[in-house]
Amino acid sequence: MDLKLERVIDNELKSKPDESNLGFGQYFTDHMFVMTYDEGKGWHEAGIKKYANFSLDPAAMVLHYGQAIFEGLKAYRGKREKIYLFRPNANLERMNVSAERMCMPTFDTKEVLAAMQELIRIDESWVPHAKGATLYIRPTMVAIEAGLGVRPAKSYLFFIILSPVGAYYPEGFNPIKIYVTDTYVRAVSGGVGHVKTAGNYAASIMAAVEAQKKGYTQVLWLDAVHRKFIEEVGTSNIFFQIGDELITPPLSGSILPGITRDSVLKLTKDWGLKVSERPISIDEVLQANEKGTLKEVFGSGTAAVISPVGALCYKGREYTVNGAIAGELSQRLFAELQAIQFGIKTDPYGWTVAV
Ligand SMILES: *Cc1c(COP(=O)(O)O)cnc(C)c1O
Repeated sequence: MDLKLERVIDNELKSKPDESNLGFGQYFTDHMFVMTYDEGKGWHEAGIKKYANFSLDPAAMVLHYGQAIFEGLKAYRGKREKIYLFRPNANLERMNVSAERMCMPTFDTKEVLAAMQELIRIDESWVPHAKGATLYIRPTMVAIEAGLGVRPAKSYLFFIILSPVGAYYPEGFNPIKIYVTDTYVRAVSGGVGHVKTAGNYAASIMAAVEAQKKGYTQVLWLDAVHRKFIEEVGTSNIFFQIGDELITPPLSGSILPGITRDSVLKLTKDWGLKVSERPISIDEVLQANEKGTLKEVFGSGTAAVISPVGALCYKGREYTVNGAIAGELSQRLFAELQAIQFGIKTDPYGWTVAV
């Protein structure tokens, strides 16, 4: 890939936000990576340039029919100022799966990873130093051909933007309260629930807003057919520890194959836990809670890494999980994953990639 580089001149660089108050996705760095695709020509005009607005035709197909896919990963500043990525190839490979499902063009993951690394090196000063803070990386692809009519577009824009984000748990590793919806569904097998396409998130907002009004941070999704089997929580995968078994729903086609989920499965298997990817119903979870065998519930995803669940609301009743405190396994997984991601602990899995 011929990477054209247009650096922002020094006196036009943005001033940096306060690292103790970054929040999530509110600030963006000085540069971005962009490349264009045209049918017959392939990917071209790849370059790193000043972070700026795009100019799009009002008929750009993404604005009407939603051919839009994205990824989310992070850069971590570790010991001696070294910067690491966590399993970036898995994100880029997953993005190509999303592209195929949405009839969008795939790309060379090696070339895009190299461009991503170059972009991070150029905006290196934006990778936070504060404990637990990271640089969130958002690769995105959208259809830009001007035209009405539902069909695959002939031209696309691929871009990567970067956003410094704060530690997810600035006040300690606190369990969240989740709302089990039996009104709305997220996805159904045969649809697009297994890919990171924008429409999935647009469709989920209403359930999240209603849950938040009732005092819950996230929605727990049930399967669309029986409204019985557990799928995911918000934009995270979910795990249950019942007795000595750690359970997560299988990749049935309607849930997102999380990279954190996969990492949790590898770690816990290596720790000798009994781990199952199997359907688990909300009734099984509540019965286990009743009997006292439900030890822990936690979500897994790039943003929060591990989110312990302290309470579930289902059909108007609230159930407390594990006395509403973060469980041992959640804490161990969070600590282990963070230690690998920040390059503090040696990584026996080959997950970390230096920038
Ligand atoms: C991104 C995402 C996840 C988590 O995936 P990670 O690769 O672990 O970040 C889970 N569910 C949904 C719906 C997602 O969009």
